[in-house]
Amino acid sequence: MSILVVGSVALDTVKTPFGSVEDALGGAAVYFSAAASCFAPVNLVGVVGDDFDPSQLEFLRQKNVDLRGLETKLGKTFRWGGIYHDDMNTRDTTFTRLNVFESFQPKIPEAYRDSKYIFLANIAPKLQLDVLNQVNSPELVALDTMNYWIEGSLPDLQQVLRSVDVLLVNDSEAEQLSGESNLVKAARKIQAMGPRVIIIKKGEHGAMMFSDAAVFWAPAYPLEALVDPTGAGDTFAGGFMGYLAGSGGLSSESFRRALIYGSAMASFCVEKFSLQRVQEVSGDEIRSRFNEFWQMTQFEPAKESY
Ligand code: AMP
Repeated sequence: MSILVVGSVALDTVKTPFGSVEDALGGAAVYFSAAASCFAPVNLVGVVGDDFDPSQLEFLRQKNVDLRGLETKLGKTFRWGGIYHDDMNTRDTTFTRLNVFESFQPKIPEAYRDSKYIFLANIAPKLQLDVLNQVNSPELVALDTMNYWIEGSLPDLQQVLRSVDVLLVNDSEAEQLSGESNLVKAARKIQAMGPRVIIIKKGEHGAMMFSDAAVFWAPAYPLEALVDPTGAGDTFAGGFMGYLAGSGGLSSESFRRALIYGSAMASFCVEKFSLQRVQEVSGDEIRSRFNEFWQMTQFEPAKESY
């Protein structure tokens, strides 16, 4: 089943302790599509300026990403800059130039309106609502947001959350949205706002998934060389939604496997700058990393009683 993603297509200027890139391909919708298309077809809706070289997205087309929803407008493409601190867990945004993204009004092509799986990447909650008003009857809607919208557009965010099944946020966003520093309490409060599944990402400490039934935790893959964390969150979302759409299952077991596929895809993303690693990753590599996660977290119940 295909997935609809709506979000940024960007040119990123990023500096980490391991090097830097300027105007490299990025954007939430691109990271998401690159990862999700390893599992299922993707329909992308976004906007670029007339300075954007469309051949940069050829690899997505070859991975079964439909780009008919990508508009080209007169003007410059959205640009974002970030610089990572030595711990690689924290970063400063050096600039955000919205350019053509500032007047982005997502238009969902007729051919995408029956998409059953929807990922609303980090854009204004009003626009996320607008997207939901243009689709027919989705089976699973997931949403990402950020501090900026929690601070500045809370009523709109609360409105769209009522129609969302899965919320993906990091720990500081969960805290800010709920007013709770304890993540278990935070997740329960956010569930009361609408989404039945809350995924809280904790960078190098993995991701926690809260559903009605239980809490499930996926560790982050223990990497020796983390080169560029940009896009890890969107790549995680791509692996998560991609697996669910590709397998067609929405059981609690499917959600658990999806969380591991999300973590596996994010672990590839951070190994190289920009989209380089996610672009080249093979099905065999994904399967073997998934199995490594399984092995890392397996243990036998104790036979002794203490
Ligand atoms: P992440 O590292 O998962 O937060 O995602 C980083 C990606 O999000 C980069 O490729 C940026 O181009 C994009 N991005 C950064 N700020 C924004 C924003 N305000 N709206 C939409 N996309 C953004």
